[in-house]
Amino acid sequence: MEKVAEAAPPVIAPSIIRPALTPTQAAESVNPFEEMMSRFDLAAQKLGLDPGLYKVLREPVRETKVSIPISMDDGRIEVFIGYRVLHNIARGPGKGGIRFDRNVNLDEVRALAAWMTWKCAVVNIPFGGAKGGVICDPAVLSRGELERITRRYTAELMDQFGPEKDVPAPDMGTNPQTMAWIMDTYSMHARHTVTSVVTGKPLSLGGSRGRVEATGRGLMLIAREAAPLKGLTLPTSRVVVQGFGNVGSIAARMCHDTGARVTAVSDIHGGIYAPAGLDIPALLTHYDRNRSFDGFIGAQKVSNADLLELETDILIPAANENQIRGRNAANIKAKIIVEGANGPTTQRADEVLNSRGVLVVPDILANAGGVTVSYFEWVQDRAGFFWREQEVNERLEDIMVQSFNDVANMAKKYNVSFRIAAYMLGISRVAHDTMVRGLYA
Ligand code: NAD
Repeated sequence: MEKVAEAAPPVIAPSIIRPALTPTQAAESVNPFEEMMSRFDLAAQKLGLDPGLYKVLREPVRETKVSIPISMDDGRIEVFIGYRVLHNIARGPGKGGIRFDRNVNLDEVRALAAWMTWKCAVVNIPFGGAKGGVICDPAVLSRGELERITRRYTAELMDQFGPEKDVPAPDMGTNPQTMAWIMDTYSMHARHTVTSVVTGKPLSLGGSRGRVEATGRGLMLIAREAAPLKGLTLPTSRVVVQGFGNVGSIAARMCHDTGARVTAVSDIHGGIYAPAGLDIPALLTHYDRNRSFDGFIGAQKVSNADLLELETDILIPAANENQIRGRNAANIKAKIIVEGANGPTTQRADEVLNSRGVLVVPDILANAGGVTVSYFEWVQDRAGFFWREQEVNERLEDIMVQSFNDVANMAKKYNVSFRIAAYMLGISRVAHDTMVRGLYA
C-alpha cells in the first residue's frame, strides 16, 4: 500500500468550520449530511486541514435531480424523482450505489456520496465518491414498473455515467437485476455492450464472483480483526445483527460459519432472538421461502429497538441510518459495534459509546468490502478476464485487514476513535492527491 501523506499544514479558519453540535442538537440531529459533516469537521480539525482544501473536499462536484415519468401497469402515468450526486473524483471515477426507497432525499444522497469518497480512500482503491437514489417504494411496484423506472433514470443520466466517469452499484432496494437493466440501457445508447459501467451485476453479465457476499464477508473479517482489541475472538463471540437484506443476512451467515453464536436478527418488521444461538442456514432457508421470520421454531420475537440493546459481544447494525442515537446509546451492551449500514450511529451516540469504551468500527471501513469487490468487478470487466472466487476473497481479505490496521494505527497515533481515524485516513489521502493534481485554471 502506498504511504499516506500526512495532512497539509495547520490552521483551519474558524469561520469555515461549523461549530460542533451541542449535545442537545446532536441528540436530535438525524440529517445524514449533518452527521457526515460533523465527523468530517472533527477529522479536518485533527488533521489541521488547509482551509482551501477543506472547502474543496466538502463540496460535491455535481448534484443532479431527474424527473422519471413512467407508465404504470394500470395505464396511469406517474412521475418519480431521482438524484445522483458526484461528490469527488480526485482519485478516480465516481463510485456509489443507487437506492430505491420512499425516504430518499437529496441530503441523504449527498451524505452517502461523501461517505463513498472517504470509504474508497480508506481502502485505497482508485475511485471517488457518488451515490444515487429514486424516491419510490420497491415493495409496491411491479417488476415491469421497476424496470421502466431504472431504464428512464439511466437514460436521464446517460452523459454522467460511464466506466471512466461514474459507476453505480446496488444499494437498498436495488439488486443485480437492477444493475443488468442499467448496463443494458447504457449499452443500447452507447451502441455496444459496456459491462464496466456498473458493478454488482449478475455473474453471467460481467459480475464478479464473491460480489454478492462481499459486504457481509468484509464485516465478518473486520469483526474478526476487531475482536482481540476487546479481549474477544469472533468464533467464541455472541453476535446480534439488525437488518436481514443483502448485507445483514450474509454477515450473519459468515459470522455463524466461523462458529460465532448469532443470537438475534431482524428485518423492518422486527426480529427474533435465541440466547443459545440461531441456526442461521435453516433461518436463511425459512426466510427465503416466507420472506418473514414468523413460524421459525426455537426463537422468541424481539422489537428492533430491543434488539439493539440485547446482551451481546458484537452488534452489527445492517439496516439503515440513525438507529443508534443519543437516546439509546447508553443502553447498548455490545463491546464492539461493526457498522454494516451507512450512518447507523449518530454523532451524539458516538460520544456516549466512546465514553463507555465501546469500540465502534465505522461504516466507511467496516462495510467497504462491497465497494472493494465492485472495484475488482470493474477491473475484471475492463480486462475481460475473470478471477476465481478464492482469488477474489483472498484479495478482499488482504485489503480489509490492511485497511483495518491503517485505521487502528491512525487511531493510536492521534488518540482518536476509529471513526475519526478512518475519516482522517480517507480525507488525508484525497487531500494529498488533490494537492498533487493541482487546481485546473
Ligand atoms: P437491503 O434492502 O438488501 O436490506 C435492508 C434490510 O434492512 C432489510 O432486511 C430490511 O427489512 C431492513 N430494514 C430496513 N429498514 C429497517 C428498520 N428501520 N429497522 C430494521 N430493519 C430495517 O439493503 P442492503 O443492501 O442490505 O443495505 C443495508 C445497509 O447497508 C444500507 O445502509 C446500505 O447503504 C448499506 N450498504 C450496502 C452495501 C451493499 O453491498 N449492498 C454496501 C455497503 C453498505
